[in-house]
Amino acid sequence: MEANRPDRDDPLQVTADRRQEPPTRLLPTWLKLTGQGLWCEPGGFFVDPGRAVARAVITHGHADHARAGHDHVLATPETVAIMQARYGDRAGRTLEALPCDQIRRIDGVSVRFVPAGHILGSAQVVLEHAGTRVVVSGDFKRRADPTCDPFEPVPCDLFITEATFGLPVFRHPPDAVAVDRLLTSLNTFPDRAHLVGAYALGKAQRLIALLRQAGCDRTIWLHGALVRLCDLYRDRGVPLGDLALCSGGRRKDMAGEIVLCPPSALADRWSRGFPDPVIAMASGWMQVRQRARQRGVELPLVISDHADWDQLTETIRDVGAPRVLVTHGQEDALVHWARGIGVEADALSLTGYADEGE
Ligand SMILES: [Zn+2]
Ligand SMILES: [Zn+2]
Repeated sequence: MEANRPDRDDPLQVTADRRQEPPTRLLPTWLKLTGQGLWCEPGGFFVDPGRAVARAVITHGHADHARAGHDHVLATPETVAIMQARYGDRAGRTLEALPCDQIRRIDGVSVRFVPAGHILGSAQVVLEHAGTRVVVSGDFKRRADPTCDPFEPVPCDLFITEATFGLPVFRHPPDAVAVDRLLTSLNTFPDRAHLVGAYALGKAQRLIALLRQAGCDRTIWLHGALVRLCDLYRDRGVPLGDLALCSGGRRKDMAGEIVLCPPSALADRWSRGFPDPVIAMASGWMQVRQRARQRGVELPLVISDHADWDQLTETIRDVGAPRVLVTHGQEDALVHWARGIGVEADALSLTGYADEGE
């Protein structure tokens, strides 16, 4: 990308020029942007609210989308199970499970979940009211993922899309590249433990499933924080093969083994005592060398649960919406691209969502 050459094609410049018009002009009158997030007025509910509310519709179980403490939660059965596993009694006073592709009418608004392909149970929210269909993507990806149902494009009047990796420089390499790197390193350094940082919900299970697909059938060792969610995935029919808890006393025996842990554990006391560990991390952000270096990652594994630039633009074409709002990520380039193909587009600043995962 070329810097400091102001011209009309500069996405930042174009967006700045348009800032006088509120981006919410693209929302139908029955959908409002509030401090807590998207609010459906006739239905009386929020989508992925940032704070505890009376009625919440939740796209998926990551903590920045699924908060604790709502009175009433509507989510897919898998997301309800994930929220209960993580929050216990604080998951919500009442939790209503709505399987994908079933319609729930709430005061004249039709609500339907459609798979988003992001993690187990992740869904887009399809809202219909007064002859207008709005799809809120939540987090999504288009890549095949053995741990969840694939994303389905839904034609709509307004598509509200995430843009975590919304820059043309982000093009995720095939997942097999990362899996190969890990297995090759294991062969090359059989005397070293391989500690792999992976988010407890979604990434850890996907990495395990990808390793199994690649023919790796050895025991995979887990940090205690990953056990419960791996069990939940298995209970929901996602095979993960032979897993075992890596308790403190086992660390010295981990030469040549794969040990998965939350990314935060890579830097804390937990990671001491392993034989000459190779520090690895599985994340879409590992394609940014700087991020890998900051975390002291020797073996970056690029595995993302978000759409990259090509998947984002492909999806905007697939849903065919005349209006697009881009949120929580790198909005400006995608807004500019969408306008270039004749779509009315704007950035919608939904705050409170993290980069990836939790
Ligand atoms: Zn998110
Ligand atoms: Zn997420």
